[in-house]
Amino acid sequence: MRVTDLTGLPAGVPEHLEEEGIEELYPPQAEAVERGVTEGESLVASVPTASGKTLIAELAMLAAVERGGKALYIVPLRALAGEKASEFERFERFGLSVGVSTGNYESDGERLANNDVIVATSEKVDSLVRNGAGWVDELGCVVADEVHLVDDAHRGPTLEVTLAKLRARVSDLQTVALSATVGNADELAAWLDAELVDSDWRPIELRTGVHYGQALHLDDGTTRELPVERGESQTAAIVRDTLRDDGSTLVFVNSRRNAEGAAKRLASVVAAELSTAERADLAEIADEIRAVSDTETSETLANAVERGAAFHHAGLAREHRELVEEAFRDRLVRTVCATPTLAAGVNTPARRVVVRDWQRYDGDAGGMQPLDVLEVHQMFGRAGRPGLDPYGEAVLVTDDHDGLEGLFERYIYADPEPVRSKLAAEPALRTHVLATVATGFATTRDELLDFLDGTLYAEQTDEAGRLASVTDDVLAYLDANGFVDRGEDLRATETGHLVSRLYVDPMSAAEMIHGLREADEETTPLGFYHLVSRTPDMYELYLRSGDRETYTDVLYEREAEIPGSTPSEFEDGAFEDWLAALKTATLMEDWTEELDEERIAERYGVGPGDIRGKTETAEWLLGAAERLAGELDLDCVRAVRDARKRVDYGVREELLDLAGVRGVGRKRARRLYRAGVEDRSELRNADKAIVLGALRGRRKTAESVLAAAGHPNPEMDDVRADPDAAPEGATEAGESEAGERGQASLGDFE
Ligand code: ADP
Repeated sequence: MRVTDLTGLPAGVPEHLEEEGIEELYPPQAEAVERGVTEGESLVASVPTASGKTLIAELAMLAAVERGGKALYIVPLRALAGEKASEFERFERFGLSVGVSTGNYESDGERLANNDVIVATSEKVDSLVRNGAGWVDELGCVVADEVHLVDDAHRGPTLEVTLAKLRARVSDLQTVALSATVGNADELAAWLDAELVDSDWRPIELRTGVHYGQALHLDDGTTRELPVERGESQTAAIVRDTLRDDGSTLVFVNSRRNAEGAAKRLASVVAAELSTAERADLAEIADEIRAVSDTETSETLANAVERGAAFHHAGLAREHRELVEEAFRDRLVRTVCATPTLAAGVNTPARRVVVRDWQRYDGDAGGMQPLDVLEVHQMFGRAGRPGLDPYGEAVLVTDDHDGLEGLFERYIYADPEPVRSKLAAEPALRTHVLATVATGFATTRDELLDFLDGTLYAEQTDEAGRLASVTDDVLAYLDANGFVDRGEDLRATETGHLVSRLYVDPMSAAEMIHGLREADEETTPLGFYHLVSRTPDMYELYLRSGDRETYTDVLYEREAEIPGSTPSEFEDGAFEDWLAALKTATLMEDWTEELDEERIAERYGVGPGDIRGKTETAEWLLGAAERLAGELDLDCVRAVRDARKRVDYGVREELLDLAGVRGVGRKRARRLYRAGVEDRSELRNADKAIVLGALRGRRKTAESVLAAAGHPNPEMDDVRADPDAAPEGATEAGESEAGERGQASLGDFE
């Protein structure tokens, strides 16, 4: 089917697609259209990676907007929301507007009402629905990207419940679910009352295999020599071999540290093959990377990129990732070592894919676990660039002969696992049951069970009564904590409503309320950081070897600052958790004591993306704590608010006012303060020469900062920087601007 034959889309779209090089629909896309995806039919598309699922979604959304509705695109990771939205923005010239929902859970609900296409994570959509976003009723189409993730124990239930809720609320809502090839796509389709496109088709041939010894053993039974030199790893040999053939390699490993280590080592392989011109181009990209942030991660990445290799993981800032992806597409960076989390959603195909690690540490299981077939196949799917490579090749590696057969059985010949709902787990139900009651979706136990009947869990379970019994446990918990009343009718209390709107796990809310009640004049910001860090909504830092002693000492020194009672040292799990929360809290404290990101990264063994992820989560939870304290009329409201602002800005108390001025941020606030400009009103009336000096001669910055503070005449044209105000040793191009606020960078769910 040709794109020009498509109907039901805004005028000009088919021609535009053609200009982009999409002339003929891929077979799964054509099948989706035949099954009515442009006419409002619900559809599950279970299709291999890189086989054009996004276009199926785009056609559905464009047609829905043309019919007068709105479309919602649910992304699996926050980090992908912006990327997807900018992809869709190319359709704005056809009259539709695209909005992306980021920021805090409670904000920006109504702003989105003006957009035709909205991109958000399932958590965000869930929260918007809880907060009563009216535009939800105008939806014509919802797309769930990577819907197989309903299988994920942590985040799957929210996606599942969100889809069920949207479908219960908006009648005839077209649901388009995009999935990797899974074992039970038919069940997903039955759950969503959808048509099914279940296909193995790929735009480019994929050969898979295992490297063992001196050869590649391929799935068609052939063997190709691929020698490994002495002292060299198999992965290095494969990268070298691919380069000889003028191709690039994507290497999947199981941790951020391994990604960085592998990139460093493989850089020597790539560097040996680079031309002078390529080196010069790479050096430029490396400089851009250094300019993003002044952390060790940034430096390590830049050093690898200079030599033609890179790493890619969720600890990188978004700008880092974009630079890496672009350089890889431009064939300057020839090897990317990635963790699978983000790479699944990022379109960076390579001639060869190497899945170096097929096991990964699993905290729940307490050890190394093999990856799912589904995940490995998704990584395989990144091999081969249509129109550029003759074929793609994806390989695993093993150094043991038995392993060769084993890997063929486990991953090459195996079918992907079926997707199973994880909704019956208690934390998931706790959150979703409260929300369902608070939003008035269910006003009796029966209605609640009725609603839950629309979930994948209900579709899949044959254990009669299980859902009902967990639901009853959860209701009892919510009742005991004062979040719901189980009288004649089921209803949420005032506090319960607030908890649901704040989008925190009810268990987090219960912990916070308990701690807030115990806060007294001895409680410090560290104490509040500890309080939010010990809730289930914060991913705590791990305790490494030696940390137990270190933080036990810190704990006993500062116990009085922390609200609540320390668990006994003999309660192993609880005590460890308390210490891990303390470690996380001291990270916040270091951040608010204006320690450099680099130092923090080093001290806690984390990346810049993590620091921001943690502080953002803390800011959100402290915001929730502040609201709860207000609701319950507790005295600590102000103290919590100050602690929140300090985490938000990353500053000591005296800078709170100044750092709140747009464009100022923690480092600039400190420089201004040192130069004698101590708050917003002083900035408004400040001597421009001093401001320019403190901001190291950056005129544009100085102007926008003064304008933001309300200075009557911010213009800097004839101003000369006061050298006395300039920070010691800094020059205009000297110190990087890293760590300033306003750099969009997100912590991901890794
Ligand atoms: P998936 O979401 O299935 O992983 P994508 O939607 O990212 O795959 O598509 C992979 C690539 O294929 C994209 O670069 C896209 O532009 C391109 N593509 C999609 N459909 C077609 C088509 N019909 N003809 C040519 N290229 C296409």
